[in-house]
Amino acid sequence: MSDAVIGFALLVALLVTGWTGKLRDWSYLGAHQNYVVAVFLYVLMFSVIAKVLGAPFDFIGFRLEHQYHLSDQKLRSWLWDECKGWLVSLVLGAIMVEIVYAIIRIAPQRWWIIAWAVFVGLFLLMAQLAPVVLLPIFYKFKPLENDGLRERLTRLGELAGTRVRAIYEWKLSEKSKKANAALTGMGSTRRIILSDTLLEHYSDDEIEAILAHELGHHVHRHILKSILVQVGITFFGFWLVNQVLRFVIARNWFPVLNPRLYDFANLPLIVLVVTILSFLLMPALNAISRRHEREADRYAWENISAIAPFISSMQKLADQNLAEREPSKLVEWLFHSHPSIGKRIAAAESWASEHQPVEAQSLT
Ligand SMILES: [Zn+2]
Repeated sequence: MSDAVIGFALLVALLVTGWTGKLRDWSYLGAHQNYVVAVFLYVLMFSVIAKVLGAPFDFIGFRLEHQYHLSDQKLRSWLWDECKGWLVSLVLGAIMVEIVYAIIRIAPQRWWIIAWAVFVGLFLLMAQLAPVVLLPIFYKFKPLENDGLRERLTRLGELAGTRVRAIYEWKLSEKSKKANAALTGMGSTRRIILSDTLLEHYSDDEIEAILAHELGHHVHRHILKSILVQVGITFFGFWLVNQVLRFVIARNWFPVLNPRLYDFANLPLIVLVVTILSFLLMPALNAISRRHEREADRYAWENISAIAPFISSMQKLADQNLAEREPSKLVEWLFHSHPSIGKRIAAAESWASEHQPVEAQSLT
């Protein structure tokens, strides 16, 4: 959250003070007037400034995780992760910005539609590559060795007539004591990942309940649906960026910006529009995500033999991750991608009382 506030302040400051023009001029100087290199230098300087301003807050976050015993990661390892994270975001950010400005230069009128089409391709590519290229930069993975669990997943998958057969053990313990599980990838890279912190502390029945939940995401095609939502939002986003750029430049709100759209000094304005849009859409996106989680939970209840391991796995998750069981309504509505643990357990119990009356009685 503090990152977002700092980012926002930085963007506004760059525009209002005209410093973005200075950064642009230095970039051209450093790049010997080469446009593509200058764009990269601008992104590089921007990214260094943002990281330096955000670093104290990142460090406070690191200290807090230790204070609450959520992590015992060493400082050196954490610093190395921070460097890698910064580099990855620099590379991805630079690629996206270069693409956008290259398209603006080639087609200044229709750039936003072309850029949108290119970004759709990038989303699909990233969804495929994430588990095999992106995640391994930060974590180690290996195929799950527990044959019993693999068999259970295969059986669950067969029931659903689906193909997720790959489960990977996710070495999270080096960085965190929290437990986590996820469905990632697309097509041949589709897989369920289970953190070692989870495998260590949960019974096979509990892990099966979690696997069934992740399989629910797969059966309901939640990754594809999220990408489609992103595709729609990105279309609107690029359209909006184009409108705002033209509006602001026509009225000369920031004299430092050149009327030609390919002047990359307007990058803070583009990022500002994107930031505000994502902030405004966050409650809607989180509502979609919570809906997906409820669907995956329901899928799990329907496909495991008893509801009790699901409920006990939820309780363990809440304890291990220090999750707030009953967050305030507003906080949940704004920021939470998952329903609260309290709600998930209550929903499971009420489902069980309708569908598995004997089981539910034994719980109370
Ligand atoms: Zn989920």
